[in-house]
Amino acid sequence: MTRPPHAVVVPFPAQGHVTPLMHFAKLLAARGFFITFINTEWTEQRIFKPPNDSAAVSAELQRKGLQIRFLSLPDGLPPHHPRVLAIDEYFLAMHKLAPAMVRLLESAADRAPPITCIVTDCFVACTHQVATQLAVPRVVFWTYCSSAAIALANSRLLLDKGYIPINVKEARLPENLITCLPGKIPPLRPTDLVTFFRVQDASDSMFQLVLYESDMQNKADYALINVFEELEGPEAAEGLSKGYPALPIGPVFLPEFLEGDESSSVNIATSLLKENLDCLKWLDAQAPSSVLYVAFGSIAVVSMVQLQELALGLEASQQPFLWVVRPDIAEGKSAVLPKGFAERVRGRGLLVEWAPQLKVLSHPSVGGFFTHNGWNSTSESISMGVPMIGWPLWAEQFHNCRFCKEIWKIGMDLESRVEDVNVLVKREEVEKVVRALMTGPQGIELRKNAAKLKEAATKAVLPGGSSYRNLDKFTQDMTARAN
Ligand code: UDP
Repeated sequence: MTRPPHAVVVPFPAQGHVTPLMHFAKLLAARGFFITFINTEWTEQRIFKPPNDSAAVSAELQRKGLQIRFLSLPDGLPPHHPRVLAIDEYFLAMHKLAPAMVRLLESAADRAPPITCIVTDCFVACTHQVATQLAVPRVVFWTYCSSAAIALANSRLLLDKGYIPINVKEARLPENLITCLPGKIPPLRPTDLVTFFRVQDASDSMFQLVLYESDMQNKADYALINVFEELEGPEAAEGLSKGYPALPIGPVFLPEFLEGDESSSVNIATSLLKENLDCLKWLDAQAPSSVLYVAFGSIAVVSMVQLQELALGLEASQQPFLWVVRPDIAEGKSAVLPKGFAERVRGRGLLVEWAPQLKVLSHPSVGGFFTHNGWNSTSESISMGVPMIGWPLWAEQFHNCRFCKEIWKIGMDLESRVEDVNVLVKREEVEKVVRALMTGPQGIELRKNAAKLKEAATKAVLPGGSSYRNLDKFTQDMTARAN
């Protein structure tokens, strides 16, 4: 009898990483893998709420034929530490987790088949040590698109060639376009690179941490990318390979979403915050493609002044909107919106603290997405055929925003912000871009292009599609290793 491959899946403990890795774990389990999913206790407490604790969820999955068990370990930080908002300390804490992770896996070894591979988030460098100690291959799962992943994985090359640290003033000069990266990808601007490189000099702590992560990303045995081949071209992902397979297998959330039948599909909660489901009823009452969905992911913060300017721009646009105002979006303080704003937009605008984003984006009333262009949000919007306005804030969001606008032609941006993330975007610019997307001819064009990409994404994950086939290959490779 064939032994099932056993994949240990390790996300970085933040929303935009736990969600795709959880979806991927389910995809693997549906193909016969035994999965051990490792969360930090901090994440586990937020995702699994009684009575649906991790053991109950695992048992429910098992009843449906999916073997996924959840293990957790402390991240070593005090309870009130801001975690992702103090990102360098968070990275450093994660770097120290290898010994505890090995002990955890060894202590749970008798209840599982032998480990076949570690599927690691691209930002959990300590899994290199874990995989080495357990003598199993390390599969890096990229939560970026291929071109952004290639840029990050080649940080040393970019440092040697003087592109990083980034001099934002000169970054847009044509002679500074980056053409030395492997893989068939469009030339990049230095401002497309992760914002952690927008520092004065290379001794900056976050600069060094990201460089270290990049070195570890390259010490992989296999790479999987949460994107579909048709988006960036079949040869783009090859730029990530260092002699091992580098396969696009995404968007990983889409197969489950396409199943459509909520009663039979296996839904594991992946949200760290409580979703407001009432907004779906509100969307039901709106006209087709009329609503702008506004959300900036789980981490991004803006200044209070910027938040107010954004609110006034949305109000002036006269367009219906559903806006996720996370309680901590205004630099960790309670968000204060302009006086009388809620009353003035009542009926036309709805504010929630956290939305069921996938359901929102797939709702027929939603016609545009004002997003920070995190890769999950971007790929969800692409998969649902929704054109975007980009408000990138950090990490590789500037890359995604530019590609949506210039390469895939499904998005607009806020010109004033490319060079300085802290520039105050005025209400007039917000109003103008919102109107252009929701009512202008350019919006119609972008919507058409987005609909084509939605079709391509759907094809890719269905049987016979590129991502489906790549996942078959990965499954075969790991099954062969396990036997
Ligand atoms: N999300 C959500 N509800 C919200 C806002 C975001 O469920 O109100 C989800 C979204 O669907 C995505 C994730 O949170 O899967 C955010 O990931 P992304 O990479 O876009 O941004 P990050 O949070 O990492 O900055």
